[in-house]
Amino acid sequence: MSDYLELRNQVHAYAVKMYQAGMVTGSAGNVSARVPDEADRYVITPTSISYQELKPEEVVVVDGEGDLVVGENAPSFEYPIHIAIYRARPDAGAIFHTHSVYSSILAVLRKPIPPIIEELVPYAGGEVAVAEYAQSGSDALAENAVKALFGKSAVLLANHGNLCLGKNLRKAFNLCALVERAARIYVEALKLGQVHLLPEEVVQAEKEMYEVVKDL
Ligand SMILES: [Zn+2]
Repeated sequence: MSDYLELRNQVHAYAVKMYQAGMVTGSAGNVSARVPDEADRYVITPTSISYQELKPEEVVVVDGEGDLVVGENAPSFEYPIHIAIYRARPDAGAIFHTHSVYSSILAVLRKPIPPIIEELVPYAGGEVAVAEYAQSGSDALAENAVKALFGKSAVLLANHGNLCLGKNLRKAFNLCALVERAARIYVEALKLGQVHLLPEEVVQAEKEMYEVVKDL
């Protein structure tokens, strides 16, 4: 049986990158990747180990029930949201869930991020919606997130943070960085005056770009 070491190494490297980018503190947030060409196998960061101490071999592999396939640590307790999204979205190869500050501010306000900067829609797929509140780690939150993600690649989780999916780890990570940037611009712009949205025809054209860009 494969120990999926290469993919576990990659998830580890991106989890450390997420921590170093300031998107999470301590052991918060989580990163996962779908095992290619195998049904219902997911590599995911473990629960309760700070990213400063996390080792690649502590990243685990779970099945569709969240049960361990490889590794000894318990998976992130937020695994239900990852598995539900992989099942609903065949285009998801990797998922990041972060507690980035500006995304979390909007999640607390329960305010979606509208199409305010050019690059958001081609990568996120449209306005970044806020999934209805449910407790973290619950099946209800997983269901709410899948619903709010419909046709898009990023979502805010009410009173919690953000979540982004992508074809691979690089794309999902970059999208979480972009969503946080857009959230920051939106929060700061709201303080200064009226926020202008992109024209509707531009948003429509960018949505078409999204359909192409997400598979590249
Ligand atoms: Zn969380």
